[in-house]
Amino acid sequence: MAPVESSQESAHDNNDHLVKSDDSQHPANLIPELCRKFWTLGWVTGTGGGTSIRDNDLVYLAPSGVQKELMKPEDIYVLELSKQTDPKKRVYLRSPPTLKPSQCTPLFIAAFTKRNAGCCIHTHSQWAVLVTLLLESRPLNTNVFEINNIEQIKGFGKGYQKLGNLGYHDTLRIPVIENTPHEEDLTESLEEAMDKYPDTYAVLVRRHGVYVWGETVHKAKTQCESLDYLFQLAIEMKKLGIPWLSDIP
Ligand SMILES: [Zn+2]
Repeated sequence: MAPVESSQESAHDNNDHLVKSDDSQHPANLIPELCRKFWTLGWVTGTGGGTSIRDNDLVYLAPSGVQKELMKPEDIYVLELSKQTDPKKRVYLRSPPTLKPSQCTPLFIAAFTKRNAGCCIHTHSQWAVLVTLLLESRPLNTNVFEINNIEQIKGFGKGYQKLGNLGYHDTLRIPVIENTPHEEDLTESLEEAMDKYPDTYAVLVRRHGVYVWGETVHKAKTQCESLDYLFQLAIEMKKLGIPWLSDIP
């Protein structure tokens, strides 16, 4: 009887221990905590947006379609990055029984594999959406957001595998990609934008929101906050007729 019992046990073993921890900094505790904060900022309202954290080879993901401010550790998906050979056949180490994986998953994975990120945040911030609307309107009609000579730019790293942060006079550039009916179909153009702008830590999605990543949760979060500040500022500057790029020496 013993072997039968153990095989039955393993069939029901959903690796729930991966999302149970008393440590507030454990990804399964941190993702719901961060999403609660992001919800108050209007970044993840109406179940949109999400957050993912990578701990070495383990990736922790918020599920699809849940109210982000009410999310619990047991709602978190876990996968092994090195085991994901086919994007169409995602293998999860731990899945919540009644939820669906997020369509953002391939985009988060792009930040982890192409940029070695430790955390990726996706927001539906109205400021991010408004900036993409301004950029698509004439005479701008461009697919990159550029701003310089603003103190908050110093909140961004110089780029992938580069030391230090941008300076006050440096120009911050965030590429914009076009939205698609299904979020997962953004992956190819997000990866292209990463290749074209190798130093960027974020990609805007037209009429949709923004993806922001960083080497650590701290860096992803503070860069996401700095970016949202700059988007909001840029919209106010535009209303006042102040250009985003300045030649102040
Ligand atoms: Zn989205």
